Amino acid sequence: MSEQRVAVITGGASGIGRQVSLKFARKGDRVVVADFNETAGQETVDLIKAEGGEASFVQVDVSKQESVEALVDKAVELYGRIDVMHNNAGIGGAGPVLEQNMDLYHRTINVNQHGVAYGIIAAGRKMKELGIKGVIINTASVFGFLASPGTFAYHATKGAVIMMSKSAALELAPYGIRVVAVAPGAVDTPIIQGYKDSGLLDSMRAKVMGGELTKPEVVADTVYLVSLDEATAITGSVVMADQGYASFK
Ligand code: NAD
Repeated sequence: MSEQRVAVITGGASGIGRQVSLKFARKGDRVVVADFNETAGQETVDLIKAEGGEASFVQVDVSKQESVEALVDKAVELYGRIDVMHNNAGIGGAGPVLEQNMDLYHRTINVNQHGVAYGIIAAGRKMKELGIKGVIINTASVFGFLASPGTFAYHATKGAVIMMSKSAALELAPYGIRVVAVAPGAVDTPIIQGYKDSGLLDSMRAKVMGGELTKPEVVADTVYLVSLDEATAITGSVVMADQGYASFK
């Protein structure tokens, strides 16, 4: 890709998404920071601009298909193209299976699963239409294939993200569009604080390399690596960004 790339990052107002936005901008890409939270999303844009980078905020509710389509349209209106779509926005969705709060269950599916599906579809259609051999990166989790107590709905969504990534990668390959799932383990962001009282946070910390929660900057580095043309062999894959979480007993 010789032209300056355009990257759209959902959940760009906080945690992993904010660091991914900063990383892409530092590398010279133009970034669309997309989030439900306008104030914090604008803060990410301000941070990028303070470093001399190029970014815009677009408000999105990823649980609504028309909102995600409008986001992709807006990115192209602003910058003329879309090379990277990072479907990253997500919520915790905690609660044991027999005590499911069904409102939260459905909300978790709507944001974490349907939100990613809408992003794949909208970005895939736009890249195909514009003839762009782009990459769609979806934030999965080690919880997409490892069960942990009290996170029933969350597991369902992250398992779905992994299989949607593989399925879309297969179908978008003829257009030169890659689709990759990035699976973090235990990352130090606001979302994980919801697990503090269950003791899950301590057990997670004990399982990762170095004994500390992963920094969101480190996950952002992996997302960036996967986006590069040099990563052209990586599609349909689950790329771990978990500091060993899923590999250590
Ligand atoms: P975070 O809470 O810091 O960031 C999530 C962002 O998503 C927030 O800015 C929030 O406003 C936004 N968001 C939530 N619902 C939205 C909606 N409907 N529309 C638009 N934006 C919405 O958490 P994070 O840890 O940075 O999470 C980012 C992704 O990483 C999530 O998909 C999460 O499941 C995944 N993940 C996190 C961890 C971890 O340990 N933190 C581990 C594995 C995977």
